[in-house]
Amino acid sequence: MSDWFRLGDYDLLVVSDGVLRLDAGAVFGVTPRVMWEPLVEPLDEEHSLPVGLNCLLVRSQDKLMLVETGVGNKATRVPRGSGVAQAGTLVEDMARHGIRPEDVDIVINTHLHFDHCGGNTTYRDGKLALTFPRARYFLQKGEWEEAKNPNERTRASYLPENLEPLADSGQLELVDGEAEVIKGVRILPAPGHTAHHATVEVTSAGRTAVYIGDIVQHPLMLERLAWISSFDELPLVSLETKKRILERAIVEKDLLVCVHCPPPGLGHLRLVDGKRKWDAS
Ligand SMILES: [Zn+2]
Repeated sequence: MSDWFRLGDYDLLVVSDGVLRLDAGAVFGVTPRVMWEPLVEPLDEEHSLPVGLNCLLVRSQDKLMLVETGVGNKATRVPRGSGVAQAGTLVEDMARHGIRPEDVDIVINTHLHFDHCGGNTTYRDGKLALTFPRARYFLQKGEWEEAKNPNERTRASYLPENLEPLADSGQLELVDGEAEVIKGVRILPAPGHTAHHATVEVTSAGRTAVYIGDIVQHPLMLERLAWISSFDELPLVSLETKKRILERAIVEKDLLVCVHCPPPGLGHLRLVDGKRKWDAS
């Protein structure tokens, strides 16, 4: 796993909640299996693909922020074909870097699917509690409302145990659209995966790191715009969002932080002979 690195006034560190397994067909959406299967790592007997759970710590002069919290350690019930046996390592991984849950001032979620906010909460003395007891939790208001009122399709991903302790905590900060969390750290609407899905940008000294959330679930999807997962609620909106973010990343040389790419999920997208190429770093 990577170590702290500098981006202008901020120090960044990728920490991992382990590995999630996702149904491989669902990851690649309508892309035919014959196109993607030769290009990916071998699948297991359940036809699932291992994906990363990369979370990002951002340290400013006086605040410690955590973007995303992975699956968490609550032995979460997950949709059939997904596997969380190797997940739930975030707090341990942070401890390896000398960071305790109470050190975190701000948590930001891109959206509220179980593999992005599961570590927001934990069991303490048999009761559900906030994993990061001092933190303010920032997320999109629309996403919160969708998660609190799931429908037949979305309820497998929005788990009440990830939400309830937050609702009553007084530590929930709902934002509506673009919002600056602290100077240089912004939450930006990036709809498609869910209607209110967001990315998180850290900008300093002319450089930008973009935590892209579920814009992609596999590095191949960074190079191929039309490869969009079946998990996305609004795939055509995802396409427009993905185009906008990735095209800008190529021009501006943004550092991309990809939650589900192999750890640490950092890299740049470049154009080589007119084709997008993902350079993991
Ligand atoms: Zn995800």
